[in-house]
Amino acid sequence: MALDNPLAIYKLLPKSNCQRCGVPTCLAFSAAVIKGDKFLKDCPHLDSRKISQFEGKIIRQTSPEERSKQVLEPLKKELRTVNFSASAERLGAALSHNKLTVKCLGKDFTVDAKGNVKSDCHINLSVIVPLLNYIIYSAGNEPSGKWVPFRELSSETIWDSFFLQRFEKPLKELTDAHPDLIEDMIHIFQGRPVKTTFEADISLVLHPLPKVPLLICYSKPAEDLESQFNVFFDETAGTNLGVDSIYRLCVGLLGMFQKITERHLRSS
Ligand code: SF4
Repeated sequence: MALDNPLAIYKLLPKSNCQRCGVPTCLAFSAAVIKGDKFLKDCPHLDSRKISQFEGKIIRQTSPEERSKQVLEPLKKELRTVNFSASAERLGAALSHNKLTVKCLGKDFTVDAKGNVKSDCHINLSVIVPLLNYIIYSAGNEPSGKWVPFRELSSETIWDSFFLQRFEKPLKELTDAHPDLIEDMIHIFQGRPVKTTFEADISLVLHPLPKVPLLICYSKPAEDLESQFNVFFDETAGTNLGVDSIYRLCVGLLGMFQKITERHLRSS
């Protein structure tokens, strides 16, 4: 597995923040490694076996083009091992001429065996990386209908606060400022209003990927009460997509919502 973000590096470290590497914290060291300013050997607590095991797997940030290449090349290589015709059902995808068409965020994305992706939708790494990971690694488990919060998808708690700060919280603020966004989620992203046992003004299911549904529960602010905004996933989501990919996909989804609301503001 490639190490392409600071959190992946952080997991390897002792997390003592001892500063012997010359930076204030282990997290700052992780960011410096990804930027190419530090190397694993600069942490004196890592043994040589661990350094040689992981140093070659680090994908450092360079230009956007170079970064795309570094992230996508290993995934495309792995994709060649996938039997497309045997995978359509597993993925909830359509198969035609040995290409898979996967509904991602309400839009069709067609992928060929070499990893080339076509869509009417804007294609960026936030979508492509989770999409290819889904095709390669999804267990194909059918959603069970039991909704759980992001933190219960995996024991990798490191992503929880990122999910809250970079997706759930900004999306709540965006929805508070632009209540029409809920309508856009229904029409543009083919969201489906549902009844749930959660108390909310609206409960809406979106499908970032066919077997990775997401439930948004939103209650508008009322009098002195602030709005309530919660996101849930089917309990099987973590078996069909890694939590890091779920996180990336959600951040990509937030970016799309932000662009839509900006367009609304410009046109009004
Ligand atoms: S030397 Fe290692 S353990 Fe100490 S702060 Fe740096 S990265 Fe963390």
